[in-house]
Amino acid sequence: MPNGLVMRSTGSWYDVRSESGEIIKCRLRGKFKIKGLKVSNPLAVGDWVVYEMEDAGEGTGVITKIETRENYIIRQSVHKTGHGHIIAANLDQAILIATLAYPKTSLGFIDRFLVSAESFRIPTKIIFNKVDLLDEAMLEEYAYLKAVYEPLGYECFLTSATEGQGMEEFKSLLHNQKSLLSGHSGVGKSTLVNAIAPELDIRTSEISDFSHKGVHTTTFAEMHEIFPDSFIIDTPGIRELGLLNIKPQELGHYFPEMRALLNECKFNDCIHVNEPQCAVMAAVEEGLIAPDRYESYLSMLANNDNRR
Ligand code: GDP
Ligand code: ZN
Repeated sequence: MPNGLVMRSTGSWYDVRSESGEIIKCRLRGKFKIKGLKVSNPLAVGDWVVYEMEDAGEGTGVITKIETRENYIIRQSVHKTGHGHIIAANLDQAILIATLAYPKTSLGFIDRFLVSAESFRIPTKIIFNKVDLLDEAMLEEYAYLKAVYEPLGYECFLTSATEGQGMEEFKSLLHNQKSLLSGHSGVGKSTLVNAIAPELDIRTSEISDFSHKGVHTTTFAEMHEIFPDSFIIDTPGIRELGLLNIKPQELGHYFPEMRALLNECKFNDCIHVNEPQCAVMAAVEEGLIAPDRYESYLSMLANNDNRR
């Protein structure tokens, strides 16, 4: 039986991409339950499935198996049902699109996004778009951020979607990957994608605006084949990703510079706020951890009361 990749979901029908690149409308047969996971949708974009063509169907298929996921991103329900909604599965990377101005993406937002991505085990790169609008001071800020984030494993790029700067690099970032593109509305996601693949005619802002209403739990993400075997999924940002219910003692695990020190604090449930002999606080004092990052950590700790 053939294998396919779920590209789109409309609830009961799924667009499944066959190995030859054809899109086949498929349904799901039977009940699929995922152990230990309370979700409202059994299948999401990025899922690998096994399907068979329906005898009496008009080119339609039936999904008979969902392959084990390498990772997935899930949004917690805003309703109190306790059910999450899987947005996408099997992502190779997340690309966070930010801007240092017009509008400025806050560092807090970037760090929350990175923590979410860490918790979902998705490597992340950061694109700072609209470089054409940056003055000297903003470019210095970029240099600072690059120096903070790259040693942590988050590669940074400068682009101008309107001037064409960095577009070859952006293209090669996406090559042969399943990438989640995220960022606030207005940072230039659609312009970036349209600059490298105009025929796709993507309008992420429609999706963004939709999510900002914040009450819809059934927005289905869509995956686009931007180049052969290169896929992008657009979601508007952190509200989509949502922070999982991270316990205070766990938050440090999702900051790579803190994760490296966790065994060195005196108390193994140290939350690095005012405990004695805390290796993280010592590293902040010594300048080994960027004060901005520690600030983000503290603010996430203070706000992490299971809200989305
Ligand atoms: P999205 O909401 O993230 O999809 O953002 P859009 O792609 O719709 O872009 C928002 C606005 O920023 C539009 O007016 C774009 O023309 C503009 N824009 C996008 N990229 C750039 C850029 O690199 N430089 C400048 N100056 N403007 C840009
Ligand atoms: Zn500590």
